[in-house]
Amino acid sequence: MPKPGELEMVAPKRQKPPLHWSDLTVDERKEKVVELGLPAFRADQISRQFFGRLSNDPQSWTDIPAELRPAVQAQLFPELLTSVKALDCDGGTTVKQVWKLFDGAMVESVLMRYTDRVTMCISSQAGCGMNCPFCATGQNGLTRNLSTAEIVEQILVGARALANDEIAGGVGRVNNIVFMGMGEPMANYKNVIAAIRRFTDDAPAGIGLSARGITLSTVGLVPRIYDLAKEGIPVTLAVSLHCPDDELRDTLVPINNRFKINEVLDACWNYADVTGRRVSIEYALIKDINDQAWRAELLGKLLQGNLVHVNLIPLNPTPGSIWTASRPEDERAFLRILHEHGVAATVRDTRGREIDGACGQLAASV
Ligand code: SF4
Repeated sequence: MPKPGELEMVAPKRQKPPLHWSDLTVDERKEKVVELGLPAFRADQISRQFFGRLSNDPQSWTDIPAELRPAVQAQLFPELLTSVKALDCDGGTTVKQVWKLFDGAMVESVLMRYTDRVTMCISSQAGCGMNCPFCATGQNGLTRNLSTAEIVEQILVGARALANDEIAGGVGRVNNIVFMGMGEPMANYKNVIAAIRRFTDDAPAGIGLSARGITLSTVGLVPRIYDLAKEGIPVTLAVSLHCPDDELRDTLVPINNRFKINEVLDACWNYADVTGRRVSIEYALIKDINDQAWRAELLGKLLQGNLVHVNLIPLNPTPGSIWTASRPEDERAFLRILHEHGVAATVRDTRGREIDGACGQLAASV
């Protein structure tokens, strides 16, 4: 087993992102406002403004003395994300953003509005160290982990845009959060868990979203899957399996050289047992690589009888890559075989394709 801390991706030493309100726990917020000369109860009022009313302009917070607002803004609400590029499609109901962080690192987030919900896909790292060969993000390696506040802010920007009627379809709110943008969330475990707590903490401490609306995606960092089961926040666990046999998965998902498929699935079934939550298995269908009928049979056998749902994802090819999406008939056959094994499976909707929808593709093109 790896030693504690060994799985955290260690980026080169560099300046830390500026401290922000969203980085802080409720107690730490109280300490900070006291340091600024405010009584501790002001922390609650600030959280009501920031998380409750979605206001990010301390100058307009009339419950804070006017002379202290500049210090509150400068020390606790630094600007974290600068929009570099925003693209929309689907009549403005899909909006993809590329953000520049304080040190010039780039990440991206996507807002997708459906008839009954709004889902946001966010990044947990700038770049990614997992090196999956079919993925745009993986090609450039890891730049750094995002801070808790940099993760949270991606959601708050979307929530503000929805509240202010800036997204096609009228005023709305974020219902679902998926950690499927840039990065391997489990390799930035501490900050990702803190961000999830900001999302699920009741207002005014956080934004009060149900943990059931949050999906944490991983390539299979086994010890972290066991850790997640102990957190008491029953998010949906999504595991990017992409292959039912170790020989191919060692190449497709290089972390498989460290954690084999049976170990990953054991951790998944433990997660399902502890939380009662169905585990999502993500499977990008890649033409003639992992989409053969015999692999569908093998996957069906591995998964049958468990609390699981398979998302088949038509691969969004990275420009210049040899990997491409499966033929429609192979995709249909794969789905049918899983169903024949009694495994729940669907083909994922691929929103945002025309705007470089694969993770990291847009940021990589900027
Ligand atoms: S597929 Fe996910 S884990 Fe693999 S390199 Fe890309 S972002 Fe990282």
